[in-house]
Amino acid sequence: MKKCRQCKRPFEPRNSLQVACSLACGLAIGKKQTEKKAAEKQKAQRKWVREQKERIKSRGDHTREAQQAFNAYIRARDAHRPCISCGTYTAGQFHAGHYRTTKAAPELRFEELNCHKQCAQCNNFDSGNIVEYRIRLIHRLGQEAVDWIEGLHEPKHYTIDDLKAIKARYRKMTRELERKAA
Ligand SMILES: [Zn+2]
Ligand SMILES: [Zn+2]
Repeated sequence: MKKCRQCKRPFEPRNSLQVACSLACGLAIGKKQTEKKAAEKQKAQRKWVREQKERIKSRGDHTREAQQAFNAYIRARDAHRPCISCGTYTAGQFHAGHYRTTKAAPELRFEELNCHKQCAQCNNFDSGNIVEYRIRLIHRLGQEAVDWIEGLHEPKHYTIDDLKAIKARYRKMTRELERKAA
């Protein structure tokens, strides 16, 4: 006697390969196997698409993704702080605003001292509201740190692996902050 793989009832097999007690159970097993294979195929297909997308990413794409991860961390880090420029706590939207812009000082694009939570108004429409930004930045970090930010910095040459590592690090740091806040 053998146990039917589908209905789990005992049955007497005609040969050693028989796993189902009846035609109905045999068909049910077959259907499950077909569905499983289709799901596996779909999963493999999605993985392939993901890999192709990853392969064709440019350095610019990697920089943008790393920057997004860094900026999200800055917003999480400063969650309870006001806009660095105008001091509002209640803006509809907050961004991560670089004191020295990524265009003017790309070597400081991932420098935490150079980036702070900023309201959308100051960030988008008031060019960073930079005079006020500087006043509050000195208050927050001290004159020495601001002097350092405003000084000369070595250019940075990030490899794609560097950028991936930066993205991964800041995503992890953001998750940890959010876990602590929850
Ligand atoms: Zn059965
Ligand atoms: Zn503001």
